Amino acid sequence: MTPENNTNNNNHNSNDKKIETLWAPWRMAYITNDKTTKPETVAVGSNADPDCFICQSVFDKQHDRQRLIVRRTESTVTILNRFPYNNGHLLVAPCCHCGRLDGLTETEKLELVREIDRWTRILEQEMNPDGFNIGLNLGRSAGAGLPGHLHWHIVPRWNGDTNFTTTIGSVKVIPQSLEALWEILVHV
Ligand SMILES: [Zn+2]
Repeated sequence: MTPENNTNNNNHNSNDKKIETLWAPWRMAYITNDKTTKPETVAVGSNADPDCFICQSVFDKQHDRQRLIVRRTESTVTILNRFPYNNGHLLVAPCCHCGRLDGLTETEKLELVREIDRWTRILEQEMNPDGFNIGLNLGRSAGAGLPGHLHWHIVPRWNGDTNFTTTIGSVKVIPQSLEALWEILVHV
């Protein structure tokens, strides 16, 4: 940690407000709980969970833009993470509500890996990152926010993207709006 980081860490509380103002405008919809951007809850299949946002995305075929869905295949759905760790943060999930790897069929496993491969290449082309973090949090103790429905994170990384803002606060600067990125990825 550099001396500059140390200084900021010591003033953590006084910097919080300043950091919040760096957050891009699209986040206002989340902060103000803007209902106009939230699609209604839809009915899901008998093996799905109506409270699971991935199941909702699988069964609601009418609101891909609002739900930030960029692609569907027979067994998978790919969604832009609404609360991204970095610009271009995608979630690749099976359509089935399943929290265990051994609950997936061989076809589903193959399709998931193919989608992860596909999106890594597309993000490389479209966003020119220097690397990726790709992974799965299996179980709540491992950090899964939604342990009942498997989902792989694809997070593009750029050299130097771990700046002091990340170090001193939980908020990052996301330079591109989610809607603008959705428009790009849904048409590739
Ligand atoms: Zn689910």
